[in-house]
Amino acid sequence: MDPVYAHATETIVARATPSGEGAIGVIRLSGSDAISIADRYFHGKKLEDQAGHTLHYGEWKTVEGEALDEVVAALFKGPHSYTKEDVVEISCHGSPFILRRILEMCIEAGARLAEPGEFTLRAYLNGRMDLSQAEAVADLISSSSAAAHHMAMHQLKGGVSREIGELREKLIEFASLIELELDFAEEDVEFADREKFLELVRRIREKVVRLMESFSLGNAIKEGIRTVIAGRPNAGKSTLLNALLEEDRAIVSDIPGTTRDTIEEMLTIRGVQFRIIDTAGIREAHDQIEAIGVERTMQALQQSALIVYVFDITTVSPEELAEDIRKLDAGKIPLLLAANKMDLNPHEKAQRFAVSDLAEEQIIPVSAKNNMNVGFIKDKMYDLAVAHQLEKGETLVSNARHYGALLRTRESLDAVLKGMEDGVTNDWIAMDIRQALHYLGEITGAISTEDLLDNIFSNFCIGK
Ligand code: GDP
Repeated sequence: MDPVYAHATETIVARATPSGEGAIGVIRLSGSDAISIADRYFHGKKLEDQAGHTLHYGEWKTVEGEALDEVVAALFKGPHSYTKEDVVEISCHGSPFILRRILEMCIEAGARLAEPGEFTLRAYLNGRMDLSQAEAVADLISSSSAAAHHMAMHQLKGGVSREIGELREKLIEFASLIELELDFAEEDVEFADREKFLELVRRIREKVVRLMESFSLGNAIKEGIRTVIAGRPNAGKSTLLNALLEEDRAIVSDIPGTTRDTIEEMLTIRGVQFRIIDTAGIREAHDQIEAIGVERTMQALQQSALIVYVFDITTVSPEELAEDIRKLDAGKIPLLLAANKMDLNPHEKAQRFAVSDLAEEQIIPVSAKNNMNVGFIKDKMYDLAVAHQLEKGETLVSNARHYGALLRTRESLDAVLKGMEDGVTNDWIAMDIRQALHYLGEITGAISTEDLLDNIFSNFCIGK
């Protein structure tokens, strides 16, 4: 028998479907008394005597024998259930009254109302999934785009855990060799080949850094990719934003600099959400309000994952454009240039603007007003911000907690490397390795504290 399952557990209960009216509602019971509690009210057959993984139709009656509803009970016998405990799921009609009554009756019979995420916490504690998989369940429930869903599924199948687990295994091997050396300190032996060890630590550090780098994209996919639309006043930023959104949201006007504040809009391109920020432009400030706008623009730019720079081909020269882009100081942030108002000069070649560091393929001729090439801009946005990164097929870290643990792992590994360089004694090195192992273990839950678990599972919804 499964070792944890052997413990008697308090039976918990919660509604698994959202509150409010629905065609059906589901109440979930889990724990040693789940089946006997259900049997007290369920009339049709005795659930205790049935096989697991079966559905049963019957009536849910009060102890006085009054029928409350016709229900279907799904029976899962531990350890073959989500929590590895005995689980009964009662599907009833989705009336808030019926659901509340069933919940109350289960509690009267000895069940306790579940805490948020408690079913999944039990699944984790009973070894059905590791911590990052449990977190993926929460991500899966809240995923609002195809990409976020894909990422959560990947993690649920153990993507991050697997990568971290492998690194940890290798490090443990060396750690134990070095600890062994400590036992033979008098004899001056070396079990762990220092060269190989250094190489391993460097390799692990590299991987950790790569996973950390993937966080910006992973997190972006979860939260929406921060995209800034920038450009001089009147270049057509608001018009392009509207065209992208295919509806009128931003105010379009002829007076330069009217979009004074920033506006945020959500746009979905091939299942990925882009959080689009329209800004006041990077022109030198003429008045107070514009100055605030410019400052905000620069701030927004620094925090963005993609910049779409709009320029007016009828008023800007290639050299001026190059100068504007230089001022933009985008650094590593992918940059797309929309050569706007092509309708006013159809013979203009957008490629003429590819001077200095500007690549031809970065510059897209568009007419925001006439909706020309707006779809193409979307494709390019997706390619630059998502496809280039996703195609590498690497695991994406999307969880801030994982990012924090990776950061501390990297610090510990740096301490190991520095210690070896400075020739510090083995016990110091062993300590730093243990630290690194600890932080890596925090990700998968090989190492967990009550605080950590509280923190993670309190963010779940009740009933999961
Ligand atoms: P913003 O200040 O950069 O947000 O610029 P707006 O979107 O407010 O546009 C400024 C002016 O340019 C408006 O009168 C728009 O109608 C006009 N405009 C924007 N895009 C185009 C375009 O593709 N072609 C033409 N002919 N006019 C445009």
